[in-house]
Formats: sequence, structure tokens, C-alpha cells
Amino acid sequence: KSFEELNLRPELLQGLAVMNFHKPSKIQERALPLLLINPAKNLIGQSQSGTGKTAAFVLNMLSRVDLSTQQPQAIVLAPTRELAKQIAGVATLMGAFLEEAGLKVTEAVPNPAMRGQQYRGQIIVGTPGTTMDMIKRRQLDAKAVKVLTLDEADNMLDMQGMGDQCKRVKALLPQNVQTVLFSATFPPDVLRFANDFAPRANQLTL
Ligand code: AMP
Repeated sequence: KSFEELNLRPELLQGLAVMNFHKPSKIQERALPLLLINPAKNLIGQSQSGTGKTAAFVLNMLSRVDLSTQQPQAIVLAPTRELAKQIAGVATLMGAFLEEAGLKVTEAVPNPAMRGQQYRGQIIVGTPGTTMDMIKRRQLDAKAVKVLTLDEADNMLDMQGMGDQCKRVKALLPQNVQTVLFSATFPPDVLRFANDFAPRANQLTL
């Protein structure tokens, strides 16, 4: 399969070409049709880093956001600020040709200069605690969010309280949000969390 066959926006095909992504990786080829054809369906994916999972969930978000407004529509939660920054970087690069049409990707990092101001951008990437605080403080308007992605769920659950923070973020989003969860490993506690967090999901194993 090619990226062209995955029905992506032409601007995304341009972005992929500039990044030298010529052909979808296995996870991209399998996850994207599942995510895009049925946006109501959750996904639980098992994949190690290095398999191209970041592009898979980033392309899902970039395909789905409405660029006519900068209201947040997709949230990614990552276990560390470092990873959040990386993911935001991938989304910005891959979406470079959508910038003119209004695409904005925002990192949900605490920023004293933003006190009392709104975090805008169709795609928001952050750690669970900070993202939760921003929604609670009404600096992040979550009422139009339609995709929630959790990356490295196993690493998140290794950190005290992070699973609960993810659940609290989800509770602040519209009920019909598509939930996408990736993890490299699924020991019993992660599996239980995943099935509860992303109910009735399509399951992908690489
Ligand atoms: P990830 O598994 O998301 O950490 O991605 C692993 C690496 O593979 C990253 O350096 C990506 O830039 C690269 N990559 C992901 N998808 C593709 C693709 N379809 N073609 C070429 N490189 C890719």
C-alpha cells in the first residue's frame, strides 16, 4: 500500500514527501484505515518505538481536524515533556503544508507568560498532569475535542498517579471522543487500564 491509497489530504502527502516517508510502515498501513474509516471506533495498538506509531496517530489527527477554527480538537498525552515535544515536532513537520490553512500545534507545557490566557491550536500535546490543569483552569477549551491519543501507556502507568490523571483528562472531554492508545508492552495492569480507557477498541498487534 502507498500513502496515496490511504486517502490522506494532499497537503499531508506533500509533508510526508518532504520528510522522506515514501511508503507507510506496517503499523501506519494497518492503523490508519481503522482510524479514519470509522472515527467512532477506539484503537489499542501494541508497537515498539521505531515502528512508526507516532506518524500513525499524528496522521489520524491531522486528517480529522477542522482548520477553520483554532479550537482544540485532538489531544495527545505522553509520559514525559520530552516525548510531548517530540510528538508536537512530528505533527508540525508533517502538517507543514496545512499551516497556511490555519493548522496550529501547541505543546501543553506550563508557561508563566501564558497566565490566564487560552491555549489554542487544533492539536494539543502534553503530559497528563499539565493538560488536566489547563482544562480545569479553563485555559484549554476541550469541548470540541474528538480524538484523544495516549502514547507509551506502559511507561505512563509506571509513574505514580499518571493513569488517574489520564482518566481525569478523559472525563473532561466529550463522551464520544475517539480514544487511541499505544503501548510497547501489555502486562496485566496495562491491559486492564487500556480496555477500560479505550473500550470496545480495535486491537492491533505488530
Ligand atoms: P516511531 O516508531 O514513531 O518512534 O518512529 C520511528 C522512526 O521511523 C522515526 O524516526 C520516523 O521518522 C521514522 N518513520 C516513521 N514512519 C516512516 C515511514 N513511513 N517512512 C520512513 N520513515 C518513517
